[in-house]
Amino acid sequence: MKNGYHIIDAHAHIFPDKIAEKATDGISHFYDLPMQYHGRVSEMLENGAAAGIDSFLICSPATTVSQVYSINAFLASCAAAYPMCTAFGTLHPRSETMEEDFAQLQKLQLHGVKLHPDFQNFPIDDPAAYSMYDMIQSSGLPILMHMGDSRSDLSHPYRLAMVLRQFPKLRIIAAHFGGWGRWKEAHEILQPDGRIRFDTSSSLPFLPVEEIRKLIAHFGAENCFFGVDYPMWDYGEELERFFALELSDAENRMILSENLTNWLEERA
Ligand SMILES: [Zn+2]
Repeated sequence: MKNGYHIIDAHAHIFPDKIAEKATDGISHFYDLPMQYHGRVSEMLENGAAAGIDSFLICSPATTVSQVYSINAFLASCAAAYPMCTAFGTLHPRSETMEEDFAQLQKLQLHGVKLHPDFQNFPIDDPAAYSMYDMIQSSGLPILMHMGDSRSDLSHPYRLAMVLRQFPKLRIIAAHFGGWGRWKEAHEILQPDGRIRFDTSSSLPFLPVEEIRKLIAHFGAENCFFGVDYPMWDYGEELERFFALELSDAENRMILSENLTNWLEERA
């Protein structure tokens, strides 16, 4: 709790202790940004709790097909060990055992699917990914989709808009306000609708308060989730940036936890 609010980090990446530092260095290198933490579960729980984070949506995208099974098993074990963690699993669009991978993900009771088109090297609207989207859509599980990169267009908002048209029941969390480094395009292209949500992660440090308020007004406070992108940003500082937006009490409550809790209970 902070300022009287129950708070969920709706976007937290974790790794097994053995490889956490290396994985975090890899992300740091990819984005040319310093990382605040090292990607270990214990470190996330401690630092999150100290700053006032009550719960975490944990995830980790598989950068290669061969990682899918072990990542999903790891995430499920963390969710089982720590009741404050809800886990999304991962899939890889180039897997030749997609049906088995997805069956395993569901058997592990993972609550959604994290995809990262830039790490996994596929355009969001790649026809090769359509059978995967079809399966996910039928299950009612949501996708947490990494969105946006100013250096590439694999995760460009227009590609997500295309997929949303093709899969009318697919539920998506468009991370980073729908487009990291592509916030303007996300605002222009992505329209709020019943099955798309947005998270605030890795955006608050880059945008002026007024721009963030405009994005929230456009997407609707009822459609936004607070996310920190652990291990990237300091929990305390991210919360300070969020409260500096001076949203209403109701908006704070919705974005900090209620929207995500309600959305995860729905299953299309
Ligand atoms: Zn992410």
